[in-house]
Amino acid sequence: CGIIGYVGPQGAQRVLVDALRRMEYRGYDSAGIALVGPDGIASAKKAGKLVNLENELEASPIKDANLGIGHTRWATHGAPSDANAHPHVSANGRVALIHNGIIENFASLKAELVAEGVPFKSETDSEVAAQMLGREVERGASLADALRAVSRRLEGAFTLVAVDADDTGTLVASRRNSPLVVGVGEGEMFVASDVAAFIEHTREAVEMGQDEVVEVTASGYRVTDFRGNETQGKPYHVDWDL
Ligand code: GLU
Repeated sequence: CGIIGYVGPQGAQRVLVDALRRMEYRGYDSAGIALVGPDGIASAKKAGKLVNLENELEASPIKDANLGIGHTRWATHGAPSDANAHPHVSANGRVALIHNGIIENFASLKAELVAEGVPFKSETDSEVAAQMLGREVERGASLADALRAVSRRLEGAFTLVAVDADDTGTLVASRRNSPLVVGVGEGEMFVASDVAAFIEHTREAVEMGQDEVVEVTASGYRVTDFRGNETQGKPYHVDWDL
């Protein structure tokens, strides 16, 4: 439902949780974050209100980092539970992913992965994308190439944001039939489903087009279509108040 990604000098944990709070008006049943630091991916996710996630982070703190993703979920596939909350981490631990929307062909993709021995931890349609990405990256693909390849195979509506345990400086995002906007700050960058998520940090936004992937670092971004051809995105200034 609500999606946020951050890379930059600030502690990501606070930026992500604050952004999720700013998207609470959209409605949700669970919330979670994943951070990527030198020790890899650390995540926390909880069914219920954002305060449940905050209590969990207080009870079992995870190490803060300068790169992370956050999600509020409105369940479509699988009950609202801790396990079904996003982010989903691939079985090999390489990738964490959040998803808005519905992956219509998830059942056949999941059957393929299960037949190959990939263990699933949730009942969501979203986890197939996490597992597929994890495998591509393990085979040597860059995270952006992996996301383009996986996005080509998914049907339905999705905004996806993913991070790689071995890369503390990059996040990638993709969209089809579901919104995705990049927030361009000074030495920091955001991706979100909604400008409300980052408006307190920057008002410079870039709207992603249909079937596009964006690769984001603290200093810039690069947009392509699902085949890797460079495209533009549509830059604009958010001049209204929230
Ligand atoms: N279909 C996904 C799920 O049920 C994502 C739902 C959403 O957009 O929050 O987990």
